[in-house]
Amino acid sequence: MAWINSLPKIELHAHLNGSIRDSTLLELARVLGDEGVIVFTDVEDVIKKNERSLAEVFKLFDLIHKLTTDHKTVTRITREVVEDFALENVVYLELRTTPKRNDSIGMSKRSYMEAVIEGLKSISEVDVEFVSASDSRKLDNVCDGIHRKKIYVRLLLSIDRRETTESAIETVKLALEMKNVGVVGIDLSGNPLVGEWSTFLPALQLARDNDLYITLHCGEVPNPKEIQAMLDFKPHRIGHACFFKDEDWTKLKYLRIPVEICLTSNIITKSISSIDIHHFADLYNAKHPLILCTDDFGVFSTSLSNEYALAVRSFGLSKEETFTLAKTAIDATFAEDEVKQQLSLIYDLASP
Ligand code: 5GP
Repeated sequence: MAWINSLPKIELHAHLNGSIRDSTLLELARVLGDEGVIVFTDVEDVIKKNERSLAEVFKLFDLIHKLTTDHKTVTRITREVVEDFALENVVYLELRTTPKRNDSIGMSKRSYMEAVIEGLKSISEVDVEFVSASDSRKLDNVCDGIHRKKIYVRLLLSIDRRETTESAIETVKLALEMKNVGVVGIDLSGNPLVGEWSTFLPALQLARDNDLYITLHCGEVPNPKEIQAMLDFKPHRIGHACFFKDEDWTKLKYLRIPVEICLTSNIITKSISSIDIHHFADLYNAKHPLILCTDDFGVFSTSLSNEYALAVRSFGLSKEETFTLAKTAIDATFAEDEVKQQLSLIYDLASP
């Protein structure tokens, strides 16, 4: 479906370390293998495997973090991830990542994020705008007569559910300090079987009090009390919503909280047993705000175009409906009004 590739797309749920090219992961693994830090062949099998449960996904992330967590590599993967999204016509990307501290290599949460920003600055293949629209050069996709891809990038800092309240608050304070370089919000992610909602609440409240946007991984496992508590917090968006009960759907729909839908991720991790019963259909028919997203295009071997193609095939969307679905994602972005206006223009020009 070539038309899906050329459709302008908006990605709002992408984890940096889940969106690394396999070729890059294998290259990094080979280097650590040569240094004797890991056994390359073991790692190679894990990276190339396509089927994984949610528990295996989190084991894989521990491995990926071993491969990627130094400043130079963080810069490199940021550059590659943004380029890959731009090349498939993602015009606006909210990229999320967990700021990491690693004293043994002199990495603080701040220096980790500076390496991410360095990655954004180092992109030359495509045009990137990642600070507020009024401060930056306007994106113009004609450069010396050559059409170049252009992409707006905003950042969300993730709190990992393994973190303490203090560590989560440190992340929120860092996000506040980095608002001038494109950080717009906070995400709560990490293994849903770990950690308590009450641990993260003070940090999320601090974020809310200081006008950061908030999105939560919600309902990835059956946890009715937590799902209700998260909805009562009224985040600006949620991701997944796989294990919602009737009362959760009622509250979600009443509050009109947009849902980041990650079809391939939900199917591969078996959070949803089959695409025909995915909640996309019910939310779509109810005209509830939803956004198709990749989650981790590296880990789940997908792309945003692939997610749209899957929705078209599985739910019978027409070209017009697909275009409208892509365009209405603008309303759910955490972007400034000026960027939203620019995105509307991009869609007007691409209208079928
Ligand atoms: P990073 O934040 O290191 O750039 O991206 C990887 C991290 O994102 C993982 O360690 C995990 O905390 C989070 N993550 C990625 N995919 C998922 C997912 O499907 N569910 C949840 N809950 N967290 C995820």
